[in-house]
Amino acid sequence: MRDRFDVIVIGGGHAGCEAAAASARMGAQTLLLTHKRATIGEMSCNPAIGGLGKGHLVREIDALDGVMARATDLAGIQYRVLNRSKGPAVRGPRAQADRKLYREAALGILEAQENLWIEEASVEDILCPDDRLVTGVRCGDGRVFNSENVVLTTGTFLRGVIHRGEERVPAGRIGDAPALGLSVTLERIGFKLGRLKTGTPARLDGRTIDWESLEEQPGDSPPEPMSYLTNRILVPQLSCHITRTIPETHRIIADNLHLSPMYAGRIEGVGPRYCPSIEDKVVRFGDRDHHQIFLEPEGIDTHWVYPNGISTSLPTEVQKAFISTIPGLERAEMLRPGYAIEYDHVDARELNRTLETRRVHGLYFAGQINGTTGYEEAAAQGLVAGINAAMRASGATAEFSIDRADGYIGVLIDDLITKGAREPYRMFTSRAEYRLRLRADNADRRLTELGIEAGCVGSARQRAFRKKNTAISEAIRALSSMTASPNELQAAGMAVNLDGVVRSAYEVLGQTRVHEEVLAKVWPGIRALDPEILEAVRTDSLYSGYVSRQDADIRSYRRDEALHLPEAVDFNAIGGLSNEVREALMAVRPQTLGQAARIPGVTPAAVLALMRHVKSRNDAANRTATGE
Ligand code: FAD
Repeated sequence: MRDRFDVIVIGGGHAGCEAAAASARMGAQTLLLTHKRATIGEMSCNPAIGGLGKGHLVREIDALDGVMARATDLAGIQYRVLNRSKGPAVRGPRAQADRKLYREAALGILEAQENLWIEEASVEDILCPDDRLVTGVRCGDGRVFNSENVVLTTGTFLRGVIHRGEERVPAGRIGDAPALGLSVTLERIGFKLGRLKTGTPARLDGRTIDWESLEEQPGDSPPEPMSYLTNRILVPQLSCHITRTIPETHRIIADNLHLSPMYAGRIEGVGPRYCPSIEDKVVRFGDRDHHQIFLEPEGIDTHWVYPNGISTSLPTEVQKAFISTIPGLERAEMLRPGYAIEYDHVDARELNRTLETRRVHGLYFAGQINGTTGYEEAAAQGLVAGINAAMRASGATAEFSIDRADGYIGVLIDDLITKGAREPYRMFTSRAEYRLRLRADNADRRLTELGIEAGCVGSARQRAFRKKNTAISEAIRALSSMTASPNELQAAGMAVNLDGVVRSAYEVLGQTRVHEEVLAKVWPGIRALDPEILEAVRTDSLYSGYVSRQDADIRSYRRDEALHLPEAVDFNAIGGLSNEVREALMAVRPQTLGQAARIPGVTPAAVLALMRHVKSRNDAANRTATGE
């Protein structure tokens, strides 16, 4: 086994899979070190990928040729586009996945990846002799692997502790040991670590659930694949079922709150506000007499069921008691009780937008370690860190980043490095300013070209992307040249103002939700267009007006992003800044003027002072360079 690599990735979770695969796709000789090969791609909590905001991230990862969407399509057992009745911008593709098939798919993709080596090991130390440059890693069994580029993606494992009632067990997640040495290393280097927590519900035996009494929730038919490269889902599709808690469930939980480690004060970490435990829901929403629960199958060949909505860390006996009050679950057997986990995370404000730490060059952090929660958020960061680590290994001076106007990945990373995460961060569509542009349907058209330029997109996807792009451009050209008068449109059965204005098929397509057959009565040429391409063009047409109005905002955002702040800018030397603003700027060390303006507490006056300071510095440097 060789001991030197261009890039080393620690951890085979969702961030690690993407980081390792992206780095290897970029041509870097990459080593993935993870505890167990068998848990590569493990879904520690709910067996589902995507959703609102998260589905956008998955499509963006796919647009950059990542692993997650392709693995989902090899494992997806129920697909639903959430918010289907709303506009395409806020629709979120989501898929239930067979846990085992997902792991196998992720491992299969990594094993087939050129330039990638996978090794089982527990990494205990990061080597950086001068605390400025990383040189490699040391494993628990004494092996040392050398590299100037290391991506750390250890998820919930850093000093992880599982809580259930009064039980307290050191663990990275159920059945896995925690990572202890790395926390010590990070603290020694000077990183500030915080504590966060998350939780998971009990798993139930599907053979003991009264399915007949419950509402069935089938998936979409036909299922819409997650990856732009998948034509059809071949995995058998299953239904979920819906039930709800009742007042008696809440009474049992309320009576036992003192046994919940969170409420007994045994957990110091902050939990995910948007994914609360059932204890939190009962306390915070005391007026509600029920909470919905989705019963999600964990796979095709298993009777394990995931009851989504009742994550808990109450003692096992209390869990059994409250579950037995839930309609349909009266006789349900618990296969594994729920639990909470508390773990260390780093302050993501110590990172720059490539996810490299400012403290140690060549060291990257990605995933839950940066304070996020969720597979998709982790994967998105892993992808960006992996691409940048590989670029650095190749000696490139350029960096790969996505801005807030180009993708949710940009929103995620900018939020993390600018604001940090005081509570577990998850993605929502409301976090994006330019969400009419950042749709799940057009992620490839926003990002694949950027990925091709960076070198992380393989030839199969390049070909598919170019073919689709050409088809869309040709369809827009053809539809724009087909025109009709209002009278012709009305004669075909369309509701239209008789204003005498001739309209193109492209305009009509976006303005009215008219069936293709009706449009074809006026313009028979429409029948020749691929339905998928026609749908893409319809969405483009629908949003074209809004998107062009937003362009002015984007230009102004990008102007501020283009004003780079030198790494060595001395915030103490800028007059007129309060101590509070100075401290905020020094904690984040923003890379651009735009980022500085987004730091909480930084006022518009401070941004102006900063801009003047940097411009006068740049002017002085230019004068020196030109000998003026
Ligand atoms: P992980 O998926 O945790 O992967 C970390 C990987 O690193 C593992 O393969 C591990 O073996 C490896 N590793 C760690 N340390 C070392 C080391 N020293 N040496 C070698 N390998 C190492 N997300 C939600 O969105 N909603 C939820 O409700 C939710 N609940 C959760 C409940 C629980 C109990 C847990 C454990 C997680 C939950 N999550 C939830 C979080 C979700 O699992 C993570 O966000 C996601 O898996 C993070 O991905 P990651 O790649 O950062 O880390």
